[in-house]
Amino acid sequence: MSVFPNLIAGEAAPVLEAMRNINPSDTRDIIGEYAIASCQDVETAIAAAAQAFPLWSRTNALQRFEILDRIGTEVGARSSEIGDMLAREEGKTLKEATAEVLRAGQLFKFFAAEAYRANSEGLPSVRDQIGLAVTREPIGVVGVITPWNFPIAIPAWKIAPALAYGNTVVFKPAELVPGSAWMLADIINRSGLPKGVFNLVMGHGSVVGDAIVSSPTVAGVSFTGSTRVGKAIGHALFERGARMQLEMGGKNPLIVLDDAPLELAVDCALQGAFFSTGQRCTASSRLIVTPGIHDAFVARLIERMKALAIGDARDPGTDIGPVVSEAQLAIDERYLEIGRMEGACLAHGGERLNRKTPGHYLNPALFTQTTNGMTINRDEIFGPIAAVIPARDYDEALAISNDTEAGLSSGIVTQSAKIIRHFRDHAEAGMIQVNLPTAGMDFHAPFTGRKQAGYGPAEKGSYARDFFTAVKVTHERFV
Ligand code: NAD
Repeated sequence: MSVFPNLIAGEAAPVLEAMRNINPSDTRDIIGEYAIASCQDVETAIAAAAQAFPLWSRTNALQRFEILDRIGTEVGARSSEIGDMLAREEGKTLKEATAEVLRAGQLFKFFAAEAYRANSEGLPSVRDQIGLAVTREPIGVVGVITPWNFPIAIPAWKIAPALAYGNTVVFKPAELVPGSAWMLADIINRSGLPKGVFNLVMGHGSVVGDAIVSSPTVAGVSFTGSTRVGKAIGHALFERGARMQLEMGGKNPLIVLDDAPLELAVDCALQGAFFSTGQRCTASSRLIVTPGIHDAFVARLIERMKALAIGDARDPGTDIGPVVSEAQLAIDERYLEIGRMEGACLAHGGERLNRKTPGHYLNPALFTQTTNGMTINRDEIFGPIAAVIPARDYDEALAISNDTEAGLSSGIVTQSAKIIRHFRDHAEAGMIQVNLPTAGMDFHAPFTGRKQAGYGPAEKGSYARDFFTAVKVTHERFV
């Protein structure tokens, strides 16, 4: 089996060590071997990116547009092939995986056009004969560190703006899912970028990620991952005065009020909590339900959960694929046990499932009769497990929804325009979903979390420029 190499300064780097990429739907299926970068490899990649920066930062908008647009076109054209790899290595369904790849292509195209809009601003001065300009400059070498659950969309929404605004990149994908990230990196590497502008270094976070975070040459790091790792990275970056953009864990509420259309509420809960095997930072893990609809909602949700097809991610009939790894499955099972021990009622699911192939299959689980203080409603589980929390009325539901250390996505199902407006203004989250699942955002909209879910400027959309550029203010006396 040939080994997929790191891509440094436009070349395949020599491979000293490699790791296996294993299919969670069939653990006998070894997808490929992927190089593990050494600290020396990371240093070489960072040096190449630093060397390429002066040239790339001065390229004109048309050159950047054409390269990013070309990348977007190839990613989109190969969505089935890359989507198949994504489903095979991560375990989300083919439909979800292909949609993610298409989104990655669209993100490159969006940021291709952003290259034309990386604008500066002239302000009127308050003094006579003085000019005042605010200009934007790329920040330099950017480290991009990404999680396993969106192995192509998240890298795309970090790498594309980094390049569009004139930065150079050292990219470290999650070690569990290097396959689709490698395919993206290969496309970027062949897109016509000058050597060193983009570099791929795969491997373990504690070595490769840490080497990026601690390098004095890396001007900023855009990280998505767990709150624990994000905080540790944040401390290190702050110490050396580097920029940071940290997107971290969620514990997202979906409020269902008495006036909610039942089937819509159940759709939102089912989609938000369990699709992509519940492995989304925006998953609806807390379902906060008022008394008038509670029993009907729970009964119908369980009915719908029973009808879900759980199986091989690449089987077209599958609704929910496997959990990503044995380690994540063990975490899910531990939380199922904690939920039971703390007195929650496991109303449905939670058992391992046997399928034709050996994989990490878990029946999506629903706890009922839970309180917001229970561990299952405090910690991000990151699996197909949701809990119903009864609430007296909207006011109590809102208070419960805001009672979390994470503030990523927050949803509500109701027909009341008054409550929708109130919720939008009072939900303590970066992203609000009304009569929609808590997961699923437009690709050109900003992505941002509050409290411990996010730190630093928002990602995506035009807002991305606040991280990937630095502003400079010039006062000029006309002589
Ligand atoms: P993780 O924190 O374990 O790893 C994320 C990345 O950081 C990986 O590439 C990993 O190798 C790297 N890393 C680990 N230790 C490091 C270190 N010491 N220094 C530098 N890099 C290091 O997260 P994960 O398990 O891959 O992903 C799941 C988590 O990601 C969940 O908490 C989820 O909520 C979060 N997530 C958040 C968002 C968001 O936008 N808020 C989106 C997707 C996932």
